[in-house]
Amino acid sequence: MKQPRPIIQVRRLRKIYCMGDEKVTALNGVSLDILQGEICCIFGTSGSGKSTLLNQLAGMEKPTSGEVRIRGVRVSRLDEEELAAFRQRSIGFIFQSYNLLPSMTAVENVAMPLMFRGIPKKEREETAARMLRQVGLGHRLNHYPGQMSGGQQQRAGIARAFAAQPEVIFADEPTGNLDSRTTREIMEMITGFARQLHQTIVLVTHDPEMEQYADRVIRLVDGTIISNRVR
Ligand code: ADP
Ligand code: MG
Repeated sequence: MKQPRPIIQVRRLRKIYCMGDEKVTALNGVSLDILQGEICCIFGTSGSGKSTLLNQLAGMEKPTSGEVRIRGVRVSRLDEEELAAFRQRSIGFIFQSYNLLPSMTAVENVAMPLMFRGIPKKEREETAARMLRQVGLGHRLNHYPGQMSGGQQQRAGIARAFAAQPEVIFADEPTGNLDSRTTREIMEMITGFARQLHQTIVLVTHDPEMEQYADRVIRLVDGTIISNRVR
């Protein structure tokens, strides 16, 4: 069998936030490889640097030093315009607070990232409706986020992330606001899509229950990786 290639390569990544005279070291020299198609869970307590790490990986913030490559592209070296194009093409995000646009329906929210791909409106809406049916929201296509439960909003968030079939999906505490039954449903949905589409997932969480869904388990303490193992 062909050896899966690393799709994400991180080397000696440091992020120091300066707040006046005070310096906060959020990431203290993180190195890791994540393989194509892996579901990678990064565990850490609150303040350990999980969100900071995802933000550097997705190119939302510039690292203080070190390097992030996604499929060989040095994310940290891209300028604003290249970065925007790269994110639209290659990266999906699932958020703890769902981040759906309140003025758009479920279909419009899921269809939106497809617009950046130049897909015509009718096709975008068909894809969005199909994805929403796959996450069990066929009866909520024209609902607004405010008319849906948290679990339903997150299912729409999952449909949106997977609809554009990005190379990597980053998820920041995607079940942080959900009860344990909904958490299981959401995780089964994320991992089900990931397996079906051979999608790489990087999920950060403080919830030890998530470990069962992971191929790779990384533990972060005070901005440092203390373990990295394949299950
Ligand atoms: P986690 O997501 O694991 O809870 P974060 O990555 O949000 O942790 O934060 C890691 C550390 O960096 C914390 O000490 C936090 O206070 C600090 N931090 C995060 N973002 C900023 C920022 N924008 N400015 C200053 N400090 C920050
Ligand atoms: Mg966080």
